[in-house]
Amino acid sequence: MRNRLAKIVATIGPASSSPSMLRLIYNAGVDIFRLNMSHGQHAKLEGVAKAIRELEADVETPLAIFADLQGPKIRTGAFAGGSIKLRYGSEYTLALAKETDADDVIPIPHKELLNILEPGDVLKLDDGKLQITVSRRDGDTIMAKADTPGELKDRKGINVPGRTLPISALTEKDREDLDFALGLGVDYIALSFVQQPSDVEEAKALIKGRAKIIAKIEKPSAVEFLDEIIELSDAIMVARGDLGVECAPEDVPLLQRRIIRTCRRAGKPVIVATHMLESMVESIAPTRAEASDVSTAIYQGADAVMLSAETAVGRHPPTAVAIMDRIIAATEGDNDSGGFASNRHDDDDYTTADAITLSARRIAEVLDCKFAVAYTKTGSTARRLSRDRPHSPVIAATPDETVARQLALYWGVRPVVTEDISHFHEMIEKADALAKAHGGKDGDRIIILAGYPFGRPGKTNTLKISRIGGIE
Ligand code: PGA
Ligand code: MN
Repeated sequence: MRNRLAKIVATIGPASSSPSMLRLIYNAGVDIFRLNMSHGQHAKLEGVAKAIRELEADVETPLAIFADLQGPKIRTGAFAGGSIKLRYGSEYTLALAKETDADDVIPIPHKELLNILEPGDVLKLDDGKLQITVSRRDGDTIMAKADTPGELKDRKGINVPGRTLPISALTEKDREDLDFALGLGVDYIALSFVQQPSDVEEAKALIKGRAKIIAKIEKPSAVEFLDEIIELSDAIMVARGDLGVECAPEDVPLLQRRIIRTCRRAGKPVIVATHMLESMVESIAPTRAEASDVSTAIYQGADAVMLSAETAVGRHPPTAVAIMDRIIAATEGDNDSGGFASNRHDDDDYTTADAITLSARRIAEVLDCKFAVAYTKTGSTARRLSRDRPHSPVIAATPDETVARQLALYWGVRPVVTEDISHFHEMIEKADALAKAHGGKDGDRIIILAGYPFGRPGKTNTLKISRIGGIE
């Protein structure tokens, strides 16, 4: 039983893809499984997705899977010896090529990038570990000087901070991966290196409602269009790995806070990602700074926090998840929960459903309710409740398996697949049973939300304050 409201996303990789390891990290606290399409062959990913669905059936808890598309990630080509040595101050030719056997040439198989490079442009290589600056451009001949010495290996990432590249958010590989992932029945698709709102629109047109969309904010231009991108997306990821290469490191904390706030205001779930417990790739315990980082994201109101290398290739995936779980629970146990407060504007148009969920939040607080039980066909009541950050977990009862899986990402929501109710007494009995299955006891207060007449979508209009077992 989870003892917290915010969710944990774990990236699945060689260290965590076996059925037994998937079960261990689930038991430790994983709610959402991330398949990284940048790595991993289709056959392998298919096996992982199947194993997750088997685990889901076994633990009788809806689990979300998301496929993270690589996006237009620019990479160097290959070197004859697997790498070259960059010498400080030396000049290198940037060539439109897949590979080279020269040791003073950096192959870059992306003409969209080479076309726009101008003297003074800074290229960060290998996640910012190395840097070169374009020194000269003479027609198609581009030269760059190394600002840092070091080994540059094959196929390392290239970031050009501050440049918007004229490339679509979905490469050919992404389109193939997208088809494949939709075939696996994933619940969310994450879009990497979104630069503008039309990137999300383009993906939407291809996905056609078969999965929800997570836009990864990792380019300065995405920050520029933040409101529009949030509006078009179902969820957002603060992708600090690439964001920290594209922007100055001192900007990342401020951007994280701003992105979370904007998402909270818009009522969209937000995931904080990358390097959260990075030292646990090797170590059995996090650094104090890492513990603070997870805690800060929770204080700021993130819906979910994410593990990348820690669970994908790390030495201690279940321990990393367990420690993240404990940090979240400890932070949520602090009463100073300012970050949890609703961030709605006063001038919003309130619907009946808004009014009911806002009241539910207040009732849960003043009566110290153990759970809010929401009967929801489309998931919208549970999403609204989650947005208003109630003081009790939300048990979302839905007949729709896909809706239940998608709700696994939402703060405080515990989705359950169950048949529709048809009578008032059934509404109460079932809510009691669901609350008990989640740790509720006879006499505990709960609130129940439903739409009457029952079984019709989108009409939440009923709120019942109740005690488990009918004791008043
Ligand atoms: P990635 O995205 O792990 O796919 O690069 C997350 C990030 O950049 O933080
Ligand atoms: Mn990234």
